[in-house]
Amino acid sequence: MVYSSPSPPVPVSLEPLHTKMLNAIESHIAADPNAVAFVCAEDNNVRLTFREYREKAKNCAQFLSDRGFGHKNVLCQVLPNGLEYPVVLLGVLQCGGTMSGASAMFTDYELERQFLDSRCTAVATDEAHLPKVMQAAERCPQIKTILCVRKGNKSLPKGVFAYDEAIRTKFRGLPPYKFSPDDVALLPYSSGTTGSPKGVMLSHKNFGTMVEVVQAHQNQYISSFLSNNGNKFQWRGQPLCLMLPFYHIYGMGLLMNTVLEGLQGIVFKKFEPTIFLENIQKFKVQILFLVPPILLFLAKHPVAEKFDLSSLRVVISGAAPAGKDLCQEFTRKYPKARIAQAYGMTECGMASHIADFKQSDDYTSVGIVLNNFEQKVVDVTTGAEVPLGQRGEICVRSPTVMLGYLNRPEATAETIDKDGWLHTGDIGYLGKDLRMNIVDRLKELIKVKGLQVPPAELEDLLLSHPKIGDAAVIGIKDERCGEVPMAFVVRQDESLTIKDVLKFVEGKVSSYKWLAGGVEFLKEIPKAPSGKILRRFLRDEVARREKAR
Ligand code: AMP
Repeated sequence: MVYSSPSPPVPVSLEPLHTKMLNAIESHIAADPNAVAFVCAEDNNVRLTFREYREKAKNCAQFLSDRGFGHKNVLCQVLPNGLEYPVVLLGVLQCGGTMSGASAMFTDYELERQFLDSRCTAVATDEAHLPKVMQAAERCPQIKTILCVRKGNKSLPKGVFAYDEAIRTKFRGLPPYKFSPDDVALLPYSSGTTGSPKGVMLSHKNFGTMVEVVQAHQNQYISSFLSNNGNKFQWRGQPLCLMLPFYHIYGMGLLMNTVLEGLQGIVFKKFEPTIFLENIQKFKVQILFLVPPILLFLAKHPVAEKFDLSSLRVVISGAAPAGKDLCQEFTRKYPKARIAQAYGMTECGMASHIADFKQSDDYTSVGIVLNNFEQKVVDVTTGAEVPLGQRGEICVRSPTVMLGYLNRPEATAETIDKDGWLHTGDIGYLGKDLRMNIVDRLKELIKVKGLQVPPAELEDLLLSHPKIGDAAVIGIKDERCGEVPMAFVVRQDESLTIKDVLKFVEGKVSSYKWLAGGVEFLKEIPKAPSGKILRRFLRDEVARREKAR
């Protein structure tokens, strides 16, 4: 059976995403000319009002346009969360461009891959990350503009433009272009069900509809949960912690939520426990969107007890599974807060399921399928739909689902079938109440603290080592990170040590992709006759040994 959302559909969004953002900003300014859009968590005196945001973004668009950046050009942001990120985003969109985000933790090796694949012609970064951006950009001749956030007015290398000057460019008007709702607005990277990271093309229609859907859901369910004695819950001005990275679709969705609902986004450069807790206490945060490792921190870390977090009412965990025990422990510690899960995937536009807050002890399900979505669960071998309660692969269909992977028609066809169903690669079952439960992952993806670590990317890297003949990477369970990668390696040269392998990986990729699960040497990597690595076999073997200990 195919199940449609129990919530009424929202109109599919056909306007440019930046028009939606600018209209919302206008309405927030009309309501309060000094309304604050973003506050820096590390220094609350550093803030951006909606009015300043609008002006800076326009000027940034003018700066980019003056440098030849326009319709369908791609800019890659290599910036940690900060007040500059939303400015550059809105600037890029107003030019008719596409924004791709890369982790600021990426090495030059990882950046080069994304720069080349996305064919970005501009990059935004800051002083701390500029050296590796420049190193990577040297090998990417298509990059024409590098924009850099600097401290004070320090001089920058030749050919690098200062962000503070860019946003002072006088706005004179941008050249017109022919907009289509299918133009790509965002290009986040995801490995999907298999292989290395790929550019996920999210159009203005896809992501514009996604944010409308999330707003509709929160206005229907979260608002009614939070409304007090019939008084409607006011979203405008609510503080929202923005500590999840903006380059990931979850963080981007929260940024967009801030702009569209007129929230006060508290922007965290990185997750620093005390600063996080101080801000929740100071701003009396009621709603928190987070990932399981932060949930674990709130539930278990003694430092959390030193702060008054009694304002918390709604806590939504997504991007990776949160266990029932953890949720229960959280509830014991914060009895006034309702914890629930959400589920999604970059390829579906962000989220397909969010809790409806009607059931107080619904820890394990990820909630109901969102407005405009259809869902079904299918048998992994036959593809036939399975009855309620039976496990299978979760498939979703909605106007928010990506256009496809950039320049990868085959990978796209493997993920979205001819009827438009997105095959998530996740195993779950639908309860009788039509709430979805995630139980396993069919795909090879590893999630470390909610961040993607594609095994194929690490395997490619390992195979580039002259002393490695073959390699396989799997995720193993870890209490703090959810999962961590572990490598099985076939040596081509017996002199290779485990330390050599660890060091090699550490020199090439960001720290969350390091082989924290260890390295093991094997004579041979188990493979199917087709050559596909039998990861399940390796995972089961590790689990068996773990049990025997
Ligand atoms: P990403 O595209 O980085 O957001 O990763 C999407 C994947 O994260 C999904 O396909 C799931 O495997 C996993 N995921 C996201 N949310 C949840 C959740 N609430 N429970 C279990 N897995 C999740």
